[in-house]
Amino acid sequence: LAPANVRAIAPYVPGKPIAETARELGLEESAILKMASNENPLGSSPKAVAAIRGALDDLAYYPDGAGYELKGVISRVFGVKPGNLVLGNGSNDVLELTARAFLTRDDSAIYSRHGFMVYPLAIQAIGAKAIEVPTQGYETDLAAVLAAIRPDTKMVFVANPNNPTGTFTPWQELRDFISRVPPNVLVVVDEAYGEYLPPELASPAVSWVEQYPNVVLSRTLSKAYGLAGLRVGYGVANPEVADVMNRVRQPFNVNHLALVAAAAALEDHDFIAKSRANNSAGLTQLEAGFKRLGLEFIPSRANFITVRVGDAAKVYQRLLAKGVIVRPIAGYGMPDHLRVTVGLPEHNARFLEALEQALKG
Ligand code: PMP
Repeated sequence: LAPANVRAIAPYVPGKPIAETARELGLEESAILKMASNENPLGSSPKAVAAIRGALDDLAYYPDGAGYELKGVISRVFGVKPGNLVLGNGSNDVLELTARAFLTRDDSAIYSRHGFMVYPLAIQAIGAKAIEVPTQGYETDLAAVLAAIRPDTKMVFVANPNNPTGTFTPWQELRDFISRVPPNVLVVVDEAYGEYLPPELASPAVSWVEQYPNVVLSRTLSKAYGLAGLRVGYGVANPEVADVMNRVRQPFNVNHLALVAAAAALEDHDFIAKSRANNSAGLTQLEAGFKRLGLEFIPSRANFITVRVGDAAKVYQRLLAKGVIVRPIAGYGMPDHLRVTVGLPEHNARFLEALEQALKG
């Protein structure tokens, strides 16, 4: 029954759940270490959790469909206006809304090789043509992306930092790129991992949306704020773009608990500082471990790191047998690599030990 464009969609395969793996291995859930989905090993912002507890009596009511309070907090914290904002059920929803609002079957949209899988998914669901632009190495090649823009191209997706490579494009390069993109092509800048950047590399992109009405930023509460299970993200754009996205959005796409938790989390600067500190120490620990094992890795600015292990499917299975779940990324054109999410120091140590054994066979 489904049209060809929908049948052609490769399903998004999420990380293996802990409970399922525990059952398969006959282990307690507590014996499983999941470092596969770029979740926050510190848990959730405690302010968000407290806010959720206080909101449990309100569940008989519809959520605030306009996200009035959360938009107020985002506006205050990031110096934008509520009219610049669109809230999403996770930032995947924001990405999908851009495609739904601005693409038709007659258009094409571009993303980079080794780019996030949801981009082609969102494009193909519309029936538009998804164009994957090759890269030289693992970094997004913005010159190649620019060269790939055709008359029918209406949208470009760029993640910074990128998943699954963790690579970072200097903001000035991205800005130069945006200034060269035709104004009828929307540039979606996906900043899912932006909070992990050190202050000197922090994104200046909110200040771009007034100057470049064809820019949409996509952000999430799933990573550094530790709220992946609630599903909340937001887009920042010129008011006209935000308005169109809000029209195609489901009226109550973000649930009440997610709204109140996100509002509290965004002001939990302490938690973000802790997440960032744990992450940079963890990246250093993992890099040192990879060097000791003689493994090549892609230097990362995100909360995960991608390492070349040879036959990654085999190493993945061996790690899994030891109760350690990481992410194979063959689906991203990287069959020799595994992506591992930064954990607590003891998680990283256990993973490195398991990896050493898995590599020996
Ligand atoms: N963008 C990128 C680059 C991601 O890696 C992810 C999470 N895998 C997302 C967006 C979506 O995250 P969420 O829907 O949880 O906000």
